[in-house]
Amino acid sequence: GKLLIGLTGGIGSGKSTVAEQFRVLGAGYVDADIVAREIVAPGTPALAAISEHFGAELLQADGSLNRAALRQRIFSDQTAKLWLEQLLHPAIREQLFAQLTALPTPYALLVAPLLLENGLDTFCDRVLLVDVSEQTQLKRTIARDQNNAEQVKAIMAAQLGRQQKRARADDIIDNNGSLAQLTEQITHLHKKYLELSRKIRHKEQ
Ligand code: ATP
Repeated sequence: GKLLIGLTGGIGSGKSTVAEQFRVLGAGYVDADIVAREIVAPGTPALAAISEHFGAELLQADGSLNRAALRQRIFSDQTAKLWLEQLLHPAIREQLFAQLTALPTPYALLVAPLLLENGLDTFCDRVLLVDVSEQTQLKRTIARDQNNAEQVKAIMAAQLGRQQKRARADDIIDNNGSLAQLTEQITHLHKKYLELSRKIRHKEQ
């Protein structure tokens, strides 16, 4: 198979920025958050199952999923949360790998904020962490989303801690600096991943 890099990092760490730069260099990526939305788009079997299980009040007038209502519904109901995860996780995984396999690039990145938390790293050859200090993370996320610090801190608290992520990463990008410093690291890693993907192809021949 093709070399698969799991790209992760906390909220606002720079995953999208990093993935886009890899794409410009010639790598392909699939974003797990986008696939997670596609899987419950109007007309999908997953959305039909959700409205059958929880009731049509979880749908908006236009037939799309009311995410806030669903979040509310599973917030303090462990059984409901488990039911939903057992429905969505396999469907997301299947769609992720279908899209990753279809990429025409020499290697691919799977972008997922909860790569480690959801065990998606077990399908990857390497884990690449975009690492930033909590201070940088807060500052950039607030600037981007106009969220308040408390909201961002709550999301950060629900994700694995920085040190735990660092311990499980094979490669680490330091994104505390400038965009130029980021590009330099990505260029270096891209060469390394091309080399690794050549080795994999060579072995398979
Ligand atoms: P999320 O998980 O919330 O989707 P993300 O990890 O994909 O976030 P990005 O959206 O790529 O993070 O980056 C967060 C914000 O920080 C964006 O506004 C981005 O433009 C900015 N940013 C990223 N890297 C840098 C950098 N090195 N210098 C300045 N700004 C940066």
